[in-house]
Amino acid sequence: ETIFGHLGRNGFARTTDPAAADVLLLNTCAIRENAEDRIIGRLGQLSRLKAGRPNVQLGIAGCMAQHVRDRLMDRLPFVDFVVGPDAYRRLPELLRGAVGDPFVDVRLDRNETYADIAPARDGAVRGWVTIMRGCDKFCTFCIVPYVRGRERSLPAAALLDQVRALAADGVREVVFLGQTVNAYHDGTTDFATLLRRTNDIEGIERIRFTSPHPSDMTPAAIAAMAECEKVCPQLHLPVQSGSDRVLARMERGYTVDAYRRLVDDLRRAIPGIALSTDIIVGFPGEDAQDFDATVALMEEVGYDSAFLFQYSQRSMTKASKWEDSVPAEEKGRRLRAVIDLQEATSAAAQRRLIGTVHEVLVEGPARKRSGWLAGKTPHFRTAVFPSDVARPGDTVLVRVDDATAHTLIGRPATAEVARAAAGSGATEIRTATPG
Ligand code: SAH
Ligand code: SF4
Repeated sequence: ETIFGHLGRNGFARTTDPAAADVLLLNTCAIRENAEDRIIGRLGQLSRLKAGRPNVQLGIAGCMAQHVRDRLMDRLPFVDFVVGPDAYRRLPELLRGAVGDPFVDVRLDRNETYADIAPARDGAVRGWVTIMRGCDKFCTFCIVPYVRGRERSLPAAALLDQVRALAADGVREVVFLGQTVNAYHDGTTDFATLLRRTNDIEGIERIRFTSPHPSDMTPAAIAAMAECEKVCPQLHLPVQSGSDRVLARMERGYTVDAYRRLVDDLRRAIPGIALSTDIIVGFPGEDAQDFDATVALMEEVGYDSAFLFQYSQRSMTKASKWEDSVPAEEKGRRLRAVIDLQEATSAAAQRRLIGTVHEVLVEGPARKRSGWLAGKTPHFRTAVFPSDVARPGDTVLVRVDDATAHTLIGRPATAEVARAAAGSGATEIRTATPG
């Protein structure tokens, strides 16, 4: 959205038809190896659109840019330009001037925040707002600090203006983004204060953020979450491993016990909060006992959902210099075990919600059922229900009739049903907004 915003104000127009585009720009992520492999495949496909059209430029943006420059340029002769995450400002000039040789700008700039560029939004109900860029944590497995550069926060005043503009455009839910989003600090305003100020913005109904780092989850941030009625009772809290030995080698900066205490504090302050996480299996040196500790922590916390990864070596990181000691087959086995556990946990948690009533913020048509709408509950659970009256942006009370591991299936609840459910203590609604 930032790239489109910047190109848009420089006279470029967006097309959704790749075959009609003069500029093809693939935005990339370097965090995991398989994402990188997919991008290389996609570039090959896109390069065919250049056949017989010498004016078409194909480029790579984002944090894979650095890698491409260092190791892949020879293998990708059809790539015309490469812009790293801090070089988007130069795109219009580069695109207009470019002839012949590929141009490459992967310099990282510790001051670049794009604070003055209004991202081009697509009219959706949810608006993503990057509040900080980069990361200073240097977890030993992670490439982010090397490809995205140093941690820097955008000025709160500019962010609050952005959120007000979103609200005026019809956005109802704002999601703050950052690699360690709760480390946000612009010199005067910290993360908790930013949440409180955002909570005061009229028109915005829901506030979420991702990904917070457990070590930055301060009592002030928890209090702000609990006290701001628009901040949703939901948190993605990456733990990575349930073993202290592994956490120490990852240099995550917390112990399993500290993480457990944080979960307790959150659940005390925000009863019913939905928690999700990221976990890496097969980190160098992870033995059967370490892995069992991760499984035990997952069982203990009972995450609503989880992103589960097998460790892959990323260049430049500290861990890339260590032996990748867990064999691929064993990594695969561990990954399947945690996926199966999480699927079972999610399915059981969703089934427990049958009969309850939720406020669903409508996003658009449901994918699989025609005439049905889809949206999210405050706990970020996907809900679908039949309706021909509700519109995107409406909040509808939905009673859950059935559930899969990933979707709640319901129907609009009458106010009466909602009140009865509230009386039985089986509901998660806080205020009743008729849809
Ligand atoms: N900033 C976030 C995570 C960003 S990366 C945080 O600290 O929580 C998203 C997820 O990718 C990480 O949480 C981690 O689980 C996974 N990941 C990062 N590097 C990885 C690697 N080398 N191998 C496998 N998974 C990795
Ligand atoms: Fe990577 Fe997140 Fe660690 Fe930063 S905090 S180094 S982004 S895993």
